[in-house]
Amino acid sequence: MEKVILIKYGELSTKKDNIKFFLKKLKENILFALNDLDALVTYDLGRMFIHTNENFDEVVNRVKNIFGIHEINIGYVIESTDFDIVKEEVLNLLKAKEFTTFKVESKRSNKKINTTSVLLSKNLGAHILKNIQGLKVDVKNPEVLVNVEYRINNTLVYFESIKGLGGYPVGTLGKGLLMLSGGIDSPVAGYLTIKRGVKIEAIYFESPPHTSNEAKNKVKDLAKKLAVYNNDIILHVVNFTEIQEAIYKNIPHDYLITIMRRMMYRISAIIASRRNAKILINGESIGQVASQTLTSMSAINEVVSMPVIRPLACFDKLDIIDIAKKIDTYETSILPFIDCCTIFVPKHPVINPSIEKCREYEELVPFKDLIYEAVKNHEMITIKAHEEESEFKDLL
Ligand code: ATP
Ligand code: MG
Repeated sequence: MEKVILIKYGELSTKKDNIKFFLKKLKENILFALNDLDALVTYDLGRMFIHTNENFDEVVNRVKNIFGIHEINIGYVIESTDFDIVKEEVLNLLKAKEFTTFKVESKRSNKKINTTSVLLSKNLGAHILKNIQGLKVDVKNPEVLVNVEYRINNTLVYFESIKGLGGYPVGTLGKGLLMLSGGIDSPVAGYLTIKRGVKIEAIYFESPPHTSNEAKNKVKDLAKKLAVYNNDIILHVVNFTEIQEAIYKNIPHDYLITIMRRMMYRISAIIASRRNAKILINGESIGQVASQTLTSMSAINEVVSMPVIRPLACFDKLDIIDIAKKIDTYETSILPFIDCCTIFVPKHPVINPSIEKCREYEELVPFKDLIYEAVKNHEMITIKAHEEESEFKDLL
């Protein structure tokens, strides 16, 4: 009998046509998370197995952060489908446990077994009651749930289940570029998008010396938190100082933010398409600030043709904060370092910007050249979930 980590992939199993591709990706992602450990991953009949001699807690802790997994169990594979052998093996496993109430649940993947799951459960339950003193069946709230799955060539037994994160395996839905500020919203937006199977890269706009190195490090720390779910992450750091100063000097101040965000969008879309990312993602939420009214959002969105996904568009701030706490980005996000959006904030930002005015104002500065320079000189950093980062310049 082998002790294994058993993975159930719930929602994935409804994707009939794509299931092979999804499973292959899920397996790859599990192996990526365990790359420094000795582990083997196999799958058949709707279940995935991790075979390993490593510490199971360590393996489970890593696997818990992988999207596409519905449930994780510590299981036992009995290399037999003979009911008498299964009964004895289950009994041996239960004798090592301390409990007083239990329930048996059976599942037949092998439909050739000539009886019902209910009868199999009853039969095994009776055998357990007869052989271990002092036990009772409790169907509503058992201390130990004895799950038995009768398969073609073997039988699976497991007791406790750990809830997985759900979602789709990262990478199954292509790539997106996350606009990552040091705030609370954008890391949450990134997390929710990775959960849909989109592998992300991130882009951060900095304006040294107006923004500090601490602010950049904070964004790197946030990227590192997301890297755990994303199989590492590439962070693009764009120097935005010249563009921001040019905006500040030349554009009427009520339009500062609108024009600044149009520039961010343009640069993000260029870098996204170079990196073969199909969407931009950001933490905008309807009504949160002046630049997030519907008119502002359309005036800003107008400069790109790539879809912009806003996972938090309809979230309340408190609900966003709840997720930020759950994924452990909140404490980093609230560190008080100045971001490039906050340094040039006008007293009265326009709430209903006109696209015509944006275009007119943008004629005042040779923005095309500045955008070209910013893209050309941007820095690309690979951030590993667990190790030190490696830095290299963008060679594209
Ligand atoms: P967050 O929204 O992440 O809490 P924030 O509230 O400071 O940060 P907003 O002004 O609400 O940011 O900007 C809306 C979105 O624009 C952010 O969620 C983020 O996706 C993007 N963004 C803002 N500033 C930057 C930046 N310096 N670099 C990259 N993206 C940014
Ligand atoms: Mg915000």
